[in-house]
Amino acid sequence: MKTIGMLGGMSWESTLSYYRALNEGIKSRLGSLHSARICMISVDFDEIEKLQHAGDWDQTGILLAEAARSVERGGADFLLICTNTMHKVAPQIEAAIDIPLLHIADATGAALQRDGLRRVGLLGTRFTMEQEFYRRRITDNFGIEILIPEASDRARVHEVIYGELCLGQVTESARADYLAVINRLTSAGAEAVILGCTEIAMLVQQRDTAVPLYDTTALHAQAAIDFALSAVTRITPEHD
Ligand code: GLU
Repeated sequence: MKTIGMLGGMSWESTLSYYRALNEGIKSRLGSLHSARICMISVDFDEIEKLQHAGDWDQTGILLAEAARSVERGGADFLLICTNTMHKVAPQIEAAIDIPLLHIADATGAALQRDGLRRVGLLGTRFTMEQEFYRRRITDNFGIEILIPEASDRARVHEVIYGELCLGQVTESARADYLAVINRLTSAGAEAVILGCTEIAMLVQQRDTAVPLYDTTALHAQAAIDFALSAVTRITPEHD
């Protein structure tokens, strides 16, 4: 079994979900007392979040590249960046390490493609919804069209992530708002919705809606388990 490298803490609430999913996944594949081999660095999210909202992505890239090097030195065979948003600086992180990066958008795109989807909605931080780094990768690598919520919905989705979910707060009003946004995305033509922020599954789950949901935390963890248990040493998007 390969050692899974985790760049976590963004936020630690979703890193908990990853840690559980990775260990449960390895246990269900290998049985008995098996658990995931993991090497993790968990950063102080307050520092990262301030830099994000100040637009200083270069500095976030420097901090996360250094953290990723520590994960590699600790013995990881490959790296997970345990957040969608910080894949914005995935190129800087990848350039700083010799181990492969398992990109969250590739894990997500591969699952959408496997299920034959052509047009899907995306929920995430404002950065993930509005910028190109995430949407474009799914469209270019997997041929899937991405729809995003209208501006006021994007603002609400973003506010709930930083103001509630990353603080461990799950409220009925946020759940109702998210479900309404999901419904509006399907009215606009989405066949399914990507939960493109690693905390969203704390709030909205498949049992809450008939719209197919793609939880990026679960998909990323599953891809990591598959890779950790395979004999393959290189990571390529599944469409290759
Ligand atoms: N975990 C979130 C994500 O998947 C948001 C927190 C962050 O900005 O990293 O995008």
